[in-house]
Amino acid sequence: MHELAVCQSFITQVERLARHHNAFAVDRIVIAIGDLSGVEPELLQRAFTIARAGTLASAAQLEIQTGNIRVSCQTCGAQSDAKANRLLCAQCGDWRVKVIAGEELMLVSLELSEIPSHTPGETACATPAAAQ
Ligand SMILES: [Zn+2]
Repeated sequence: MHELAVCQSFITQVERLARHHNAFAVDRIVIAIGDLSGVEPELLQRAFTIARAGTLASAAQLEIQTGNIRVSCQTCGAQSDAKANRLLCAQCGDWRVKVIAGEELMLVSLELSEIPSHTPGETACATPAAAQ
């Protein structure tokens, strides 16, 4: 499944960011998927429940934002919304358009549970890194 590979690469990216911020868990992941990205949001959501197991994101929620397709017309210069199966300028109907939105597949934001640095050594379980 293509979506599983996509998901795994997102989780690799998310874990790297989480470690960078000293987080011990990822609570929420927001991903933007364009209609032309070739990724099915439903399949990605399902793949996520498999890919997150055993990672810092194992209890994270995945929010998927899907966006409209926007094209810029090479003939009249107008920018308009378009459909994946009908990439035409809404203004003049020309097919010579450039896709300016809709191909994205990216991480938008993350919510992390961070180790509080202002309360050092409060309880043993608050600093799992020290247990090693
Ligand atoms: Zn046009």
